[in-house]
Amino acid sequence: MSSDPFISFSGVSKSYDGVANVVEGLDLDVARGEFVSLLGPSGSGKTTTLMMLAGFESPTRGEIRLAGKRLDNKPPHQRDIGMVFQNYALFPHMTIAENVAFPLSVRKIARGEQKTRVKRALEMVELSQLAGRRPAQLSGGQQQRVALARALVFEPSVVLMDEPLGALDKRLRESMQYEIMRLHRELSLTIVYVTHDQNEALTMSDRVAVFSDGRIQQAATPTELYENAANAFVANFVGENNGLTGRVLVGDGEWAALQLRDGSTVY
Ligand code: ADP
Repeated sequence: MSSDPFISFSGVSKSYDGVANVVEGLDLDVARGEFVSLLGPSGSGKTTTLMMLAGFESPTRGEIRLAGKRLDNKPPHQRDIGMVFQNYALFPHMTIAENVAFPLSVRKIARGEQKTRVKRALEMVELSQLAGRRPAQLSGGQQQRVALARALVFEPSVVLMDEPLGALDKRLRESMQYEIMRLHRELSLTIVYVTHDQNEALTMSDRVAVFSDGRIQQAATPTELYENAANAFVANFVGENNGLTGRVLVGDGEWAALQLRDGSTVY
């Protein structure tokens, strides 16, 4: 990792009233243009981490920087960060074009400029012909593309996605994965992507941060996670996706073995 990361978490912890250290001692750097997934089981602290970066939650300890500047208590709409949620969070009473324009009106962008940018964002996700409809008239996949357009319309450097494809069926999910990867490449976006789905994280990301119990167990490329898991949790959690019929066993990083379903072990 370069000495000047684009996003950095340093010693970040978060406690809620009565719930201590939902996230604990988090250190993570993300380079400009990188696609990093936060992968882990439900309740491991992924969303809380994303919400602190977005500005919807504040760290209890530690600091988060974007482009070298501390984010501290900067409100979400001043952070140069777009967000996509699992439930799309579209406004039902607004048209698609009005939904996509929303971040621009919050930022007090002139009307004419809003129109140009909304048009471009809808073209980017191939929804121009649906601009006048309301969310309820769209399929789930189309609604998620509107949410993507809305996150991209103010041209943020960073886009955060929280289980964005969780509500879609498998086929649609796969085509949306490619669409997100294309946008990442074409727009040189920095993406932080939350998922509990190993397959999704490992196919889409440059690097994956594996979470468990509020801590990052390992942050590495998909290949490194397979070939050099830091501990048994990572080996098992990532290994569930490795297409083999057994479990990867790791002891203190000293040795690794594959235990097959029939009980035999391969070294
Ligand atoms: P994940 O995204 O990995 O599923 P979360 O970050 O949503 O995990 O949650 C981590 C833990 O923090 C969970 O145990 C959850 O119950 C707790 N938590 C999340 N938000 C709050 C909150 N607002 N108040 C109290 N506890 C919370």
